[in-house]
Amino acid sequence: MPKRLRKSNIRRGSAGEPYATIADGPKGIPCLATTFKPRNTTMSDTVAPGPEKLQYQTEVKQLLDILAHSLYTEKDIFLRELISNASDALNRIQFEMLTNQDVTDADAELAIWLEPDREAGSLRIADSGIGMNRDELVTNLGTIAHSGAKAFLNGVEPGETSVEEIIGQFGVGFYSVFMVAKEVRVTSRSHRPEETAWTWISDGGSEYELVPADKENRGTEIEIRLKDDCDFADSWRLEEIVKRHSDFVSFPIYLVEPAAEEEDDEETAGDQAEAAADAVETDKVEAGVSQTKINSQTAIWRQSPNSVAEEDYNQFFRQLALGADDPLLHIHLVTDSPVDIRTVLFIPSKRPDDIFMAHREDGLRLYSRKILIQKHNRDLLPEYLRFVEGVVDSEDLPLNVSRETIQDNPATRQISQTLARRVLRELDRLAGRDAEAYDRFWDQFGMFIKAGLATDFERRDSLIGLLRFKSTKSGDDWITLEQYAERMPANQKSIYYVEAPDLDAARRSPHLDYYSAHDLEVLYFSDPVADAYLSMSLMDFREMKLVNVDSADVEVPDTAGDEEAPAEAGEALQGLVERFKEVLGERVEDVRSSSLLVENPSRLVYAGESMSRAFERMSNLMGQEAPQQKRILELNPDHELVRNLKARQEADAADPLLTELIEQVYDNALLLEDMHPDPAAMTERILAIMVAASRA
Ligand code: ADP
Ligand code: MG
Repeated sequence: MPKRLRKSNIRRGSAGEPYATIADGPKGIPCLATTFKPRNTTMSDTVAPGPEKLQYQTEVKQLLDILAHSLYTEKDIFLRELISNASDALNRIQFEMLTNQDVTDADAELAIWLEPDREAGSLRIADSGIGMNRDELVTNLGTIAHSGAKAFLNGVEPGETSVEEIIGQFGVGFYSVFMVAKEVRVTSRSHRPEETAWTWISDGGSEYELVPADKENRGTEIEIRLKDDCDFADSWRLEEIVKRHSDFVSFPIYLVEPAAEEEDDEETAGDQAEAAADAVETDKVEAGVSQTKINSQTAIWRQSPNSVAEEDYNQFFRQLALGADDPLLHIHLVTDSPVDIRTVLFIPSKRPDDIFMAHREDGLRLYSRKILIQKHNRDLLPEYLRFVEGVVDSEDLPLNVSRETIQDNPATRQISQTLARRVLRELDRLAGRDAEAYDRFWDQFGMFIKAGLATDFERRDSLIGLLRFKSTKSGDDWITLEQYAERMPANQKSIYYVEAPDLDAARRSPHLDYYSAHDLEVLYFSDPVADAYLSMSLMDFREMKLVNVDSADVEVPDTAGDEEAPAEAGEALQGLVERFKEVLGERVEDVRSSSLLVENPSRLVYAGESMSRAFERMSNLMGQEAPQQKRILELNPDHELVRNLKARQEADAADPLLTELIEQVYDNALLLEDMHPDPAAMTERILAIMVAASRA
């Protein structure tokens, strides 16, 4: 079960007579304005425990400090965060009640109420969700649970980081309220019948207060005393923010206001909203207050795809992903065979900043019969597609599911098959229809497709079709393996690639000499992580081997009679080669003359099995010391440097400068392979060589 739905093992809060007077509204409207009471004025007798002051966890203090002093302009996101928490709490009680009816207020309407008070400069947000007891208030609102967030905040000074950055890293959640609040009071009553209500009070300073409260209804009520420059007590402003950020929340969000004239009600009742919603509205005019539903609650995934406008998808995504940019692509699928699926999936346009962080909660929202079963389900798509966001609703999933039963359910397997196939197909279609958009996808998420190739053998062909490469001939474009294969000469039998730590290094690689000279195309594998996976999992394409051009035994197409036979050249270089072996000794596997070098004097080639190389590389990536396969140093007999060295060696076999030059030839080759353990150590030798070269 996910974190949110797990029944936590919570101790009861310290008992005591409730004494605070944060009143509940009349039945049916659990949120009615009571003005802020000055603290502690309602302490009744000596039996009740006094208010307790508690210190925030250090990281929370830091976060609050940053939020309070930020110049961040989009302060209205606080409302989105509080509504999203309320909606989570409602989902949780809804889920709880599938199996447990023994909860406080079992019949309460599941909804969210916003109640501004312009005169008092305050806003109240209430929900009839799962609620919190005293200890939950302490844990949830006094600490930060995400280890990643804690690590991030640890040590940042105020001013060193911005709200934008924090949002990018882990979101701000509840604490965002302190961007707009002078004081916040959270009064909550847990759904567990034995629990009493508590109020949590904070002005965003270093401590908060807890007092027993008198709240009869289940749920949470947040009273915000707004900072003077914040206009969030204006109804129109709230309505506008809800439309923009929370329109698709699946529970009604009511705006509670003092009841206006009769005609006002008729006007709202006359709106196009569904009959049910209208009934609710008229019902809820009592005790001088009215409530108007201000969100549309549309379950967009349950609508027919051709009735939904592009902008609705975009808006739905922005609300789902709490403020991300418009998505690159949406996939709307409604089907009932072989299994009932109603889904809207999104490919975001940007890789989330935290996608590789351990604390990230990814996965699709899973509904069954409109009830949220899981907020982050990871069984509905293969792991490598975890950048896909969206909602899946299926009537074929049993309602009383636990995490394990979802995983093992045959319907889940069928859904995930369908979704994975569909996502890959839509990406392929995107590539055909809008190459530029696909390039953007590839730039952000290509590494996931490469990772998929290492794990998803079933969809291997689709994944291969989605791969894109830069090559010695691609310029700024991305090419497919298909394109590569189409334009290679008839006598070429393998697909060549060069590996390097980045694109610039790839372009400079000495291994390209021969291929550039013979107009053969070589793919760049320049992502040290993703391409390491790729070289392990992509061994061939259309029965052609993928070959790393640094392999000692690489086969190149016949290019009749354009070089001196390697054997001859090798013989001519024999003396120098021996001298190289003497100097380099055990550091190299071998030294030999090469016919594949043109521009460069030397290179290091790999003589081992390609699998052990892959293993070596992965170990290095994971920071482990792997035994390194020794390389073969190859020399270019036609290069001026090599010819000069040969002449020197023949003139004086013991020439000390020759030793230094050989060492430097080797070091240069190491540098080009990104294998040099200590480049700075070369300076002394380079200096000696420069002194020798500069002698007049
Ligand atoms: P997140 O929502 O990502 O967990 P938040 O900072 O927004 O982080 O909220 C912290 C926690 O406080 C929530 O996980 C939840 O347990 C609790 N919480 C916040 N608001 C409510 C609410 N209205 N009802 C019940 N619990 C809440
Ligand atoms: Mg939240």
